[in-house]
Amino acid sequence: MQLRYNFRVYPTPGQQQALARAFGCARVVFNDGLRARQAAREAGLPYVSDAELSKQVITQAKTTEARAWLGEVSAVVLQQALADLNTAYRNFFASVTGRRKGRKVAPPRLRSRKDNRQAIRFTANARFKVLVNGRLRLPKIGDLDVRWSRQLPSAPSSVTVIKDAAGRYFASFVVQTSDEPLPERDAEVGIDLGLTHFAVLSDGTKVAAPKFLWRAARKLKRLQQDLSRKQRGSNNRKKAVVKVARAHAKVADTRRDWQHKLSTAIIRDNQAVYVEDLCVAGLGRTRLAKSVHDAGWASFVGMLEYKAARYGRTFAKINRFAPTSQTCSACGRVDGPKPLHIRSWTCPCGQVHDRDVNAAINVLAAGRAESPNACGAQVRPAPVPAPRGEAGIHPDATRCSARSAEGIPVL
Ligand SMILES: [Zn+2]
Repeated sequence: MQLRYNFRVYPTPGQQQALARAFGCARVVFNDGLRARQAAREAGLPYVSDAELSKQVITQAKTTEARAWLGEVSAVVLQQALADLNTAYRNFFASVTGRRKGRKVAPPRLRSRKDNRQAIRFTANARFKVLVNGRLRLPKIGDLDVRWSRQLPSAPSSVTVIKDAAGRYFASFVVQTSDEPLPERDAEVGIDLGLTHFAVLSDGTKVAAPKFLWRAARKLKRLQQDLSRKQRGSNNRKKAVVKVARAHAKVADTRRDWQHKLSTAIIRDNQAVYVEDLCVAGLGRTRLAKSVHDAGWASFVGMLEYKAARYGRTFAKINRFAPTSQTCSACGRVDGPKPLHIRSWTCPCGQVHDRDVNAAINVLAAGRAESPNACGAQVRPAPVPAPRGEAGIHPDATRCSARSAEGIPVL
């Protein structure tokens, strides 16, 4: 399985300049490529092929006065920017023709220097290198100071350098990892992702979003209000933007750490894990609950999925149209819709149900019934691919991958 390992890096002022130049060149190549394809389309010409585009906006552009400075950065960085554009186009076409399921993908859009997140990607043939002294050597950038919070399990196949909206730099390595099946367990669990709790397990465990997450979200909301009162273009507004970005980053980091702990514990303790595949967008919730839970659920389910694959557990999502909250888990009677404020109910069979626990038990039952290995044979889920588009397909170009940015298997 391919996983991402993220580390904070601390470039020197000179390296920051070199990185800014590389971000800029990657952006220009991406935008030139996009404009060339748009122009061809408007002129009624055929779609410009990947190879032809690369020749036009990289090889030939470098020989012109207006784009000569493209030669100052690693050619791989430029090729990878075009690869992102090509992927964005392929996703868009697949979405239009219905080959790609899920949310509609918009056509690629121009990147801006004002985008919150700047990124460049180096593949193995760029000859990036982790030196014996622990520094990360990047061609035409220099030797970067990396805070190694853990060891890489094997040689990385690529590294993406990211500057986020809070001004922090990260190196994100894609690494091939081997699976590590854990000793088998008897327990299986169904999970209901709920409104009152972050998650409710079929064994009756209720997991609330931790208080620190609520506090962080509240602070973020306050900062956003501050920001909205600042005058456009003012220095105070610029400062407020950075504050909001930092608070955002903190909420995301905190949530991810907490979700990693929770998902690891659930995978460790259970041989099979079933989750209701719910449509988060359709649920009415307060704005604050949204910021605490949102992306939260998607990334949490993503963590369960890849950890299950990695540690030899069964994982399945249950069809979200199964009426898990209406069905009595004791007798199977479907008792009609239950308004959200009804937290517990009594089935005519006499069973008293906690709404969420009952739903989780039904998720478990549905998972056992649907799962091909209900009889105990180990069926392995498909491996989780390393997420692509990391090196900054425009956030709006692929809504799906942008949203899952936090759900990327990150260790
Ligand atoms: Zn009943």
